[in-house]
Amino acid sequence: MTKHILVTGGAGYIGSHVVRKLIDNGYTVSILDNLINGNKESVPSEVAFYKIDLGDISELRKLFDENNFDAVMHFAAFIEAGVSMKKPAEFFANNCINGSYLLNEMLRHGVKKIIFSSTAAVYGNPIGNKIKEDHPLNPVNHYGRTKLIFEELLRMYKESYDLEYIALRYFNASGADESAEIGEDHDPETHLIPLVLKTVLGERENIKIFGTDYGTPDGTCVRDYIHVNDLANAHILALERLFKNGESDVFNLGNGKGFSVEQVIDSAKKITGKDFKVIKTNRRKGDPAVLVADSTKARDILKWNPKYTSIDDIIKTAWRWHKKHPNGYNN
Ligand code: UDP
Repeated sequence: MTKHILVTGGAGYIGSHVVRKLIDNGYTVSILDNLINGNKESVPSEVAFYKIDLGDISELRKLFDENNFDAVMHFAAFIEAGVSMKKPAEFFANNCINGSYLLNEMLRHGVKKIIFSSTAAVYGNPIGNKIKEDHPLNPVNHYGRTKLIFEELLRMYKESYDLEYIALRYFNASGADESAEIGEDHDPETHLIPLVLKTVLGERENIKIFGTDYGTPDGTCVRDYIHVNDLANAHILALERLFKNGESDVFNLGNGKGFSVEQVIDSAKKITGKDFKVIKTNRRKGDPAVLVADSTKARDILKWNPKYTSIDDIIKTAWRWHKKHPNGYNN
């Protein structure tokens, strides 16, 4: 019997890539998504799709009553750190309270395995170089705080209700599937790589570099860009671990390599063959200078082996998606 996985937020950027990997690995998949940020166009035809908001407990209960899920992958959440600083109530309600409804429904129906989409934002300003999982948890924005609160909830439910979880702390998810059928399409877009590529396409007049006076080699922020399909593979490995009764745990998912904003811009110029206007401007609030993962634990325990290690390779896949879909899923 194939295992049936409920993917919340499965119509979103990372969720949609994971859904394809689940199908490729022989799982039956159902998606729950309220489509506030998700795109129905990304949902494969063989997947059962439910337009449900996690805050709607009666619809959620009906979904669990009518299906026998073996595990849940939970992506549905608000994700913009900047927005979270203006709307903490919404972030808490969606990421924590609605997430708790999901956990409670899982327990009510005897579903005791969950993979949770967490974030490097739980660490806050890094101490030292590469961040390991035992780095202090001091998020500097409300987004990171809500993700940390949910992780804590998982630890509580593990201790008291035997819920098994794996929380995956992503660094900077980027790139797109090689097919260019699915990719990154946020509205509004705030992430560096899609904004740079939209500038290449002439949808934006320029790209702004937020801060050139950081204590980094070229003065711009350094991030660990990890390809979305490498992230997706880690989810399959984490799920397999839970099905083999592996321990609940947290794992960093990153390349282990940092690239500065300027390096990303230079790579985009090289890959696309186009020049564009770059404006150096002030720092963005809440941005640590450097965020780079130590993902040794995921490599050792999950046997995860990310394939896209160069920024050029990642941007190539993102460029293919943006070129084919200049208006995202709208065309
Ligand atoms: N960034 C930038 N200009 C932009 C968008 C982002 O300089 O228009 C910088 C941002 O300050 C950060 C890096 O690019 O240092 C990555 O930002 P992004 O929003 O993509 O991801 P984050 O690291 O915030 O999760």
